Amino acid sequence: ETGLTETEAAKRLAADGANELEQEKKKSPGAALWEQLNDPLICVLLVAALVSFLLHEISDAVIIGVVVLVNAVVGVIQEGKAQKALESLKKLTSPRAVVRRDSVVREIAAAELVVGDVVILETGSQVPADLRLVQAWSLKIEESALTGESVPVEKTSEKPEVEKTAVGERKNEAFMSTLVTAGRGEGIVTATGMQSEIGKVASMIRAVPREYTPLQKKLAELGKLLSVVSILLCVLLFGIAVLQKRNVIEMLITAISLAVAAVPEGLPAVVTIVLAMSVSRMVRVNAIVRKLPSVETLGAVNVVCSDKTGTLTQNKMTVTACYVNDRHIPVSMHNIRQQAEIPEMFLRGLALCQDAEVTGEEAVGDPTELALLQMAETCGIRKKQSEQQYPRIKERSFDSVRKMMTTVHRGDGRDFAYTKGAPDVVLGRCTKIRINGSILPLGEAKRRKIQNVLEEMSSQALRVLALAMKTDGTKEELLQEEELIFLGLVGMKDPIRPEAKDAVTKFKKASVQTVMITGDHAKTALAIAQELGIARKAKECMTGEELENLTDIELGNRLKEVRVFARVSPEHKVRIVRVLKKLGNVVAMTGDGVNDAPSLRMADIGIAMGKGGTDVAKQASDMILADDHFATIEKAIEEGRSIYRNIKKTVLFLLSSNFGEIITMFTAVLFGIASPLKASHILWINLITDSLPALALGMDHNDKEQLMKMPPRGAKEGLFANGGLACTIFYG
Ligand code: ATP
Repeated sequence: ETGLTETEAAKRLAADGANELEQEKKKSPGAALWEQLNDPLICVLLVAALVSFLLHEISDAVIIGVVVLVNAVVGVIQEGKAQKALESLKKLTSPRAVVRRDSVVREIAAAELVVGDVVILETGSQVPADLRLVQAWSLKIEESALTGESVPVEKTSEKPEVEKTAVGERKNEAFMSTLVTAGRGEGIVTATGMQSEIGKVASMIRAVPREYTPLQKKLAELGKLLSVVSILLCVLLFGIAVLQKRNVIEMLITAISLAVAAVPEGLPAVVTIVLAMSVSRMVRVNAIVRKLPSVETLGAVNVVCSDKTGTLTQNKMTVTACYVNDRHIPVSMHNIRQQAEIPEMFLRGLALCQDAEVTGEEAVGDPTELALLQMAETCGIRKKQSEQQYPRIKERSFDSVRKMMTTVHRGDGRDFAYTKGAPDVVLGRCTKIRINGSILPLGEAKRRKIQNVLEEMSSQALRVLALAMKTDGTKEELLQEEELIFLGLVGMKDPIRPEAKDAVTKFKKASVQTVMITGDHAKTALAIAQELGIARKAKECMTGEELENLTDIELGNRLKEVRVFARVSPEHKVRIVRVLKKLGNVVAMTGDGVNDAPSLRMADIGIAMGKGGTDVAKQASDMILADDHFATIEKAIEEGRSIYRNIKKTVLFLLSSNFGEIITMFTAVLFGIASPLKASHILWINLITDSLPALALGMDHNDKEQLMKMPPRGAKEGLFANGGLACTIFYG
C-alpha cells in the first residue's frame, strides 16, 4: 500500500542496475573503416595506385592513396554522426512508469524501476518491467512483443491454482514491453532489465534489419543503373584508347579512376546523413521522427487532421460554471460563497468518479479530471477522505467510444454508482433527476431545458461533462450505466494555444488544410475552431452521427468544405483518413489513445502526443510531438519541405558533376585529343566535390518563409520533375 521508500529504491537501483535492455555493441573505428574500404571498386583503385607506384608515378600513387583514405575517413565520421543522432532520438522516446513510493504516486523514468516497486498500469501504457499483479480491473494486455500473439490477454490478480510456466499463460503477471489495451491494474516489480522475460530474448529483438526510405531505395536503384552505364562507358573509353594506340597502362588507370569517380556510390549515404541530421534538427523543435521516411513524406503533406484538446488548446482546464438543482452557478476558485450552493452529493461524485491525484505540488492524471478534483477540493470535499468513507468496489473505465466512466462505491450501508461523461450520452441514460434532495422523473420539458443549458454552455467554448448516479441494484446492475439519476453539468474552460492560431494561418498560406477532429460536443468544437480560424460557419462542422449516415462518396464531397468533426469515435477517424487519402491527399493525423492506433497507422504521417499520448499510440506513430503542440506540426512540415528540397539539390549536383567528368573524358578520347584529366585529377575532383559540397547542400538553409508560401509538392512527384533532368545534363 505504501510502496518502497525512496531510500530503499535508490539502494536497490545501485545494486541491481538500471531497468534497461542492453544496447547493441558499437562498431570499433577500425571495423567501420574496413567497412568503407571493403568495396570492389576501391580495391581496384588501390591496385591501380600500386601499379602507378611500380611505374615510378609516385605522385599519382600518393594522391590516389590519400584520396581513398580521406574518403573512407569522411565516410566513417558521417556514419558516426548519423548513428549519434539516431541514438539521442531513442533516448527521447524512452518509456516512463507510474509508481507508488513512500505512499506517493508519481511518474518516473522506467529505467529507475527496481524489484519490489509498486507500478500502476493504465489503459494505453506500456508495462515498464515484469510485474506480479495485485490489482486488476478489466485489465487486458497485448503481449505480441513477447509471444507474437496479437489478441489481448485478460489478466487477473488472483493466484492461479496451478502455476503455469508459459509466458502467455501466466495470467497474474504482466511483462515488460507489452501494452495495456484496456482497464487498469497494479503490480509489484519482479524482474527488471535483462532479467525480465523480454530481456531474455532481447538478443533476438536487437537484430532488427535496417530500414531504408522509399527515396533511398529509388536512389540506390538509380545508382546501380548509373554504375553499370558508367562502367560500360569506361570500358568503351579504354577500348577506343587502345585502338588509338595510347599508353595502355596510363589509360587503364584513368579509366578505372573515372569509373570510381562516376559511380555515385556515396548517394544513399549522403541522403541518410542529410535525413538523420534533419531529424536531430527536428528534435530541437520538439518533433521526434520515429521513422526516417517520414521526413520526406512530411514535405508533401497537404491535410493535417488534429485533435482539439491539448493540441489546439492548452489542456489546462478550469471549471467555470455548473448547473445543479435546476440553476446555473458560476464557479471560481476564489469565490467560495456562491459555491456553498453546490450540493455535497454532486461534489463527492466529482471527487470519487475519477482517477486523478494531487499530492502537494504534484498532480497526476487527466486534466479534465484534475479540474473536477480541484473544484471539489476547493469546495471542501477531500478525495482521500471520501475514498476512505466510500471505497470503490467496482468500475468501468473511461473510453472514447462510450464517452463516459462509472465507479461503484460502498458506504453508509449500501452500494451506489457515479457516472460521468459526455452530457448527450449520459442524459440519454437518465430517467430521473435529483433536485434539492428529491428524486423526480426526468420528463420531456426538463430534458429540453438541460439540452438548452448544454448548448448555451458549449457555444461559449466550454467543455461540458454531466454527472449522474444510481442508487439501487446489485453491483453488476450499478455498472450497467442505465436508468440513471441526473445530478448536473459542469463547464470547463480550456483556452486555445495562441501559437496554434498562427500555425493555422501559416498552413493556409502553404495550401495545407487544417481539420479539427474531436470527441467533444459540436458547439464547443465549432466555437474553438472559429477562434483558431479553422472554420467559420456551422455547415463546416459535422458530427460523428451525421458521418455514419454518409457513403464514402458523399463523405468525399462533404470533405471539400467540412473542417471540424465533432463527437467522433476512433473508427470515424480511420474512415476520414481513408477517404481523404482516396481523394489523393497526403494526410497527417494526430492521436493519443489506444483506439487511435489504427488511424495513426492509416495516415501517411501518424502523429502521437508525447506528453498526453499512450504508449500504444506512440508505437503506431511515425512522429511524436514532445510538447503536444499543434505549432510543432507546422515546424515539422516546414523542415520536411526544406529537407526534400536539399536532397533534390544534392542529388542533382552529384549527378551533374559525375556526368561532367564522363562527358569531358569521353569526348576528348573520342576525338583523339590528349586526355584532359589524369587519374589523380579525376580522383581529386571526386574527393572535393562528392562528399563535402554535397553535404553542405544537404544542410543548406532554405528560406522557410518562402517555402511555406508555396503549395506542397505532388504526392507522386519524382526528383527529376520540373526540369530536373534537363538541369543535370545541362550543368554536366
Ligand atoms: P479530443 O479528441 O480533441 O482530445 P476529447 O478529449 O473531447 O477531444 P475524448 O477523449 O474522446 O475526446 O472524449 C470524448 C468525450 O468524453 C469528451 O468530450 C467528454 O465529454 C467525455 N470525457 C472526456 N474525458 C472524460 C473522463 N475522464 N471521464 C468521463 N468523460 C470524459
